[in-house]
Amino acid sequence: MSKIPYIGRFAPSPSGRLHFGSLVSALGSYLRARSLNGKILLRIEDLDFYRCKDEYTKAIIKELKVLGFEYDNDPYIQSKHQDIYREYAQKLLDKRDAYYCKCTREDLKHSPCKCKFLHLVPNDKQAMSLRYEVDTSITSFEDSLLGTVISAPLVDNFTLIRKDKVIAYNLACVVDDALEGVTEVVRGSDLIDITTSQISLYRSFNFAKAKYIHLPLAMENSEFKLSKQNKAKAILDIAPPSVLLKEALEFLGQETSFFTPSMTPSQILDKAISNFNLKAIPTMPKLCPSLFL
Ligand code: GLU
Repeated sequence: MSKIPYIGRFAPSPSGRLHFGSLVSALGSYLRARSLNGKILLRIEDLDFYRCKDEYTKAIIKELKVLGFEYDNDPYIQSKHQDIYREYAQKLLDKRDAYYCKCTREDLKHSPCKCKFLHLVPNDKQAMSLRYEVDTSITSFEDSLLGTVISAPLVDNFTLIRKDKVIAYNLACVVDDALEGVTEVVRGSDLIDITTSQISLYRSFNFAKAKYIHLPLAMENSEFKLSKQNKAKAILDIAPPSVLLKEALEFLGQETSFFTPSMTPSQILDKAISNFNLKAIPTMPKLCPSLFL
C-alpha cells in the first residue's frame, strides 16, 4: 500500500510583521513536516483587506527567509485566488448548506435570524452575507499532540462571504488546505475552537480529512495571548535570527544543547529537524520569553 506523503503548511495573516507567536507556528509546522521528510507550503492569508497589508506580506516572506525557512512552493497569496473560494461557496449554496442572510447586527440584537428559511437571492438594493450551516453534531477531533479534543462548534452558522464581499478565513483556509493536499494542519491553539466548524466544511465539500496539531499559545501574561492586536513586537527588531530560533525551540520544549551563537539559521534548523520530538511540545499555554514582551 502506498503511503500518502506528508504535506504541511504555514499560513500567516499579514496584519503585521512576524511576532513570537507566529514564529512558534512557523517553526512547529516546519519541523514536523521536515522531520517526516514531508513538504511544507507557505500560504499568505490576506483576504481581509481591512487588516492585511502588502507591505506585511513582503516583510513576512523576507523574514521567514532570513530565519532559514525554505518552503516547497512560491508563497500562495490568497487574495489572488478569490474566484476559487467563490466557486466553492456556490457549491455550498447549491447543496443548501449555505444561505444568504440580510440581517444586520442591529437586527440580530432584536430577533434571531430566520434567513435560512427564506431562500433569499442577493440583489443590487440590499447587500447580503453568505452564511454556512455548521454540522453541530461534530463535537470532537483528534489532535496528534493533544489527543482527543472535545470542542463543540461555537456557533451553528458562520459567515462564508461578508456583506462587503470579504471572503472569510474559514472558507478559504479549508478550501486551500484541501486543494493543496495538506495532510496535517499545525497551528496555534487559538484556532482549536474553530476546528470542528472547519471539519464540518470538509464534510460538506467531501474533502479528505486532515490531521491536526495545535501548538501551545505564547502568552503575554496569565490572561492574554501575544497577538498583533496586543501590539506584539516584531521579533527581527529584537534579536538575531539564530537567537530567535533558539528561543522558539526552547518554547516548544525542543533540544537546544547543540546551539552556538555562530551557527547559521539553516544549521540550527537542520539540527532541530533531526532532534524533533513531538511529545516534548508543551500542551498548555506558556508565558512568552521576556525578551519579546
Ligand atoms: N492565518 C491564521 C493566522 O495567522 C492562521 C490560520 C491557520 O493556520 O489555520 O492566525
